[in-house]
Amino acid sequence: MRRWTTLLSFVAVALGGCHSNSRVSPVQGIEVYGLVESPVDHPALEAAVRNANLILGPSSATSFAAGWRQVPNTSAIKVFAADPKGLGETEVMSSYHQCNCVIAQVGRMSAWLSQQTGTGQGLLSVDNQSLMTYMLLHEMGHIAHGDEVESETPSTNTGQAMKFNLDPTLQKEHEIAADQYAANAINAAIKDKGSNRGIAAAQIAVTLAQLSWNLAEHRLLDNFGGTAVHAPSLFFDAGLSHPNLEWRILSVNAAISDAPTAQKLLSDFENLRQVQPTVLYQAKPH
Ligand SMILES: [Zn+2]
Repeated sequence: MRRWTTLLSFVAVALGGCHSNSRVSPVQGIEVYGLVESPVDHPALEAAVRNANLILGPSSATSFAAGWRQVPNTSAIKVFAADPKGLGETEVMSSYHQCNCVIAQVGRMSAWLSQQTGTGQGLLSVDNQSLMTYMLLHEMGHIAHGDEVESETPSTNTGQAMKFNLDPTLQKEHEIAADQYAANAINAAIKDKGSNRGIAAAQIAVTLAQLSWNLAEHRLLDNFGGTAVHAPSLFFDAGLSHPNLEWRILSVNAAISDAPTAQKLLSDFENLRQVQPTVLYQAKPH
């Protein structure tokens, strides 16, 4: 919220200083929001922007554009590559409806992934660029639905009793709707078999399947025993803003895959998400 207040004040300053008679408006970068552009991340982010636009297709009402370039299409959603300065470690991507922009911290992607899946030997290699493309499609969902500032960092700043929960909240509904938007876009593109669009969509489907494998591996091995006792930290939502990541990825997988396995993995996980009426192992009081 603090950053958004800063962002709003910068937008107000920018609007106040606007000159209508200038022939060529300069590229307005994220420095006006108090952030620092990270040119080293431009090639990877630009490739993700290209693939996201490919998947959205030519009939899409909106598209993405690299924010650090002069954007000819003024209705395009600008995407910026931000340096860690001024952003939290886990703030990989956030969208701002009011400025039609998405801010990505590309350099933190690997660290974010390690945080979600650990670093075990059995992990599959997940393509960061495809994952970033998926995240852009998810952000487009937030923007298309008119969600206000959407940081992808779960807000866990709640009391301990509320920390792991299954409570429905408006923010969680926004996240589910944005995931559904991305799944619909991938579904439509994947039918365009043999084209670059279809291939880009299929790559994301593979990446999400690999990510769900890694999340399950992390849950089963790094948190050994937690699945058997239905540990809330593994199956519930951490905080009130974002649903459980593994459940989200399994849900999107099930939405874009006809394979019975994808549906089975989701229903198995949802069964484990249920609050259990019986306690299997309990220490007897002395
Ligand atoms: Zn989101």
